[in-house]
Amino acid sequence: MSKGDKIKILAAAAALSVSGASCSRAENDNNDMEKQSLIEKLKGLVGKGAKTVMPEMAMCYEVPAQPNEEFTCPQCGGLFYVWDNSFEDISAIIERLKAKGHDVKVERICKKCAGLIPKESNDNDITFKFSYKAPDAKEYHIAYSTNIVDFYALEAALNGDDQFVIWGDSIPLSEKADALKNMLGR
Ligand SMILES: [Zn+2]
Repeated sequence: MSKGDKIKILAAAAALSVSGASCSRAENDNNDMEKQSLIEKLKGLVGKGAKTVMPEMAMCYEVPAQPNEEFTCPQCGGLFYVWDNSFEDISAIIERLKAKGHDVKVERICKKCAGLIPKESNDNDITFKFSYKAPDAKEYHIAYSTNIVDFYALEAALNGDDQFVIWGDSIPLSEKADALKNMLGR
């Protein structure tokens, strides 16, 4: 199984652990236990090389009970429902980098205001706008990503590490060259 598949399965497990999603509303008492055992099973599958976990999982668990929070785009005032806590996790990474003296910032904005999708499109979503000013740079480099793996790679790169650990998996930075080019502009 590829690292991408592994990350998908572990991301599904992580999402389950926070979403409060439920397969059977009639079995609320057992719900937490079932969810926990499902998370364990998912994690177990990663070790066994399973590949087709996502579709079956999605049938039962794609809809969380309620959104985490509502978010209003600061530029256009558009309202969005936030279903996961990835921005919190990414903000924690940014805070660690700031504490080490790096000039970094992350903020939420909608994709239309970010110019990532046309204004006339019917679709819209939140993206994370990342700003970085290298010590010798005059201007901020701007990147857009909602993928926490990109931010872990970024943290490792700015710390001078050549790998990072996410969900118990060690990933060499050399595998994330494209993500780093996006995030750091180099
Ligand atoms: Zn907007």
